[in-house]
Amino acid sequence: MKLEQSDPIVSITGDLAHETIADFADDTLLCHAGRHSDSHHGTVNTPVYHASTILFPTLASLDAKGTAAVRYGRRGTPTSFSLEEAVSALEVAEGTILAPSGAMAISTTLLAFATPGAHYLIPDNVYGPCRNCCEAIVKKLGVAVTYYDPLIGAGIAELITTETTLIWIEAPGSQTFEMSDIGALAAVAKARGLVTVLDNTWAGGYFFKPLSLGIDISLQAGTKYLSGHSDVMLGTISCAPSVYARMKEFSARLGMCVGPDDAYLVLRGMRTLSVRMRQHHASSLKLAEWLQSRPEVIKVMHPGLPGSDGYEVWSRYFSGASGLFGFIIKPVERPRLARMMDGLRLFGMGASWGGYESLLIPTNPASLRTATSWEPQGQTMRIHVGLECVDDLIADLDAGFARMALNG
Ligand SMILES: *Cc1c(COP(=O)(O)O)cnc(C)c1O
Repeated sequence: MKLEQSDPIVSITGDLAHETIADFADDTLLCHAGRHSDSHHGTVNTPVYHASTILFPTLASLDAKGTAAVRYGRRGTPTSFSLEEAVSALEVAEGTILAPSGAMAISTTLLAFATPGAHYLIPDNVYGPCRNCCEAIVKKLGVAVTYYDPLIGAGIAELITTETTLIWIEAPGSQTFEMSDIGALAAVAKARGLVTVLDNTWAGGYFFKPLSLGIDISLQAGTKYLSGHSDVMLGTISCAPSVYARMKEFSARLGMCVGPDDAYLVLRGMRTLSVRMRQHHASSLKLAEWLQSRPEVIKVMHPGLPGSDGYEVWSRYFSGASGLFGFIIKPVERPRLARMMDGLRLFGMGASWGGYESLLIPTNPASLRTATSWEPQGQTMRIHVGLECVDDLIADLDAGFARMALNG
């Protein structure tokens, strides 16, 4: 039986034209952006298109394929286009480029602006693989890199040379959670015509809109909150009109594309982003407050916690806080720490975050710094507060601290 497409004249309620998406609040657009049920037999979600070859019915259409949106698998399919559209709506972007991982979103962006003699400013608390890419690849291309104190604010002007082309921002830093004054950095960059890039993974694109503040590129590890289920790798590069064409062409030249199953999973995760983020916000604040009251804890690093370092700057730019933050416990020998951690029932130990489940790991941020120092006077920890009942999480940690106190 030949399947008939829906009559294209009858628009299915729920599909929204991309141009009208800005009429709606985030919670609404997350439910509707990138949906094209009209084109897919009425299915709510855009199906997974596995494709390399795309066939053209006539020689004339083959000759004109340069203008076709769907023309070769690597150039994107309706599945990846739906995800790009949804992320662009969320990030208020001209367009979004998908990468096979967050790390590749970072490296692609670093490379896109790399010309011999250029100068990049990178925050000293930047995500480790970003620093590694700068050291191992970007510098070899003849780009000078200066790491700056993330708390430098408008003082960044003093680090800018005639060769500076790009300022990277990560706020808060994903291990130490300092809040850069994003507005101050963006203002200095704008005045000098520099490109600004912000790693927006922590806010998931939900609690912060970098492009609305004048940042040129907001990138995310879609691996984290967008997907939300710890089962897929993906990166997003959302661009302002100033840089979209350049980034799009550069990533096409690299041959970058993502698998359709991965694109599908991330878009499926995004449909529940708003409810997840609000829960991460509420639970992480409650857990941060509890940790602050504990005698084992020297300091809590959570920019959304009133009174904490960075709270004032954070509240100027962000509408909420996600589930990832840090804390420092009093110095503890490894076997004692192991006794606490190995016995946890709910918190997993592992890289990444942004899924529905809680995680806890010890970190060593000092090893990643060159321009500033990190002297915590204790053991730095990083926690991801998942969607479990927060009282269960608190009880798990409480029992963990009790094991840590035991002698033997
Ligand atoms: C995890 C992470 C990335 C990299 O994402 P992957 O998908 O793991 O490559 C980039 N930035 C930040 C802040 C991250 O936490």
